[in-house]
Amino acid sequence: MAAYDSNNIFAKILRGEIPCNKIYEDDFAIAFHDITPKAPVHVLVIPKGSYVSIADFSREATAAEIAGLYKAVAKVVEQLGIEEGGFRTIANTGLNGGQEVPHFHLHILAGRVLGPMVMPKV
Ligand code: AMP
Repeated sequence: MAAYDSNNIFAKILRGEIPCNKIYEDDFAIAFHDITPKAPVHVLVIPKGSYVSIADFSREATAAEIAGLYKAVAKVVEQLGIEEGGFRTIANTGLNGGQEVPHFHLHILAGRVLGPMVMPKV
């Protein structure tokens, strides 16, 4: 796994160097609207700690950081009012997973029937 690149765009957002459309923040995480939404609701939830991927985060983060991220997801889901209608959570990882930004993030997609997961080739 590549080392964490502190120049990635989400690190810059966390440092306040570039803006985002933030909808939630606590000690462990922030959530903001994806700049290129793939659904009527498309929010990214990211830990404040420097982790490349879900694998890195799950392996290296403290129990408090892990709990904090998932508690933030619950707060965001409640804030967005999407639990009843349903939503999809995605963590793209690495080259094969299509990860573009090397700071762990969870996509939350909602607002329409999302259909099957996108698997153009098996
Ligand atoms: P991934 O392919 O899982 O790494 O997803 C990265 C996501 O970050 C994409 O859905 C992008 O549209 C989104 N993104 C990139 N730059 C920004 C930004 N400055 N603010 C909000 N979302 C962004």
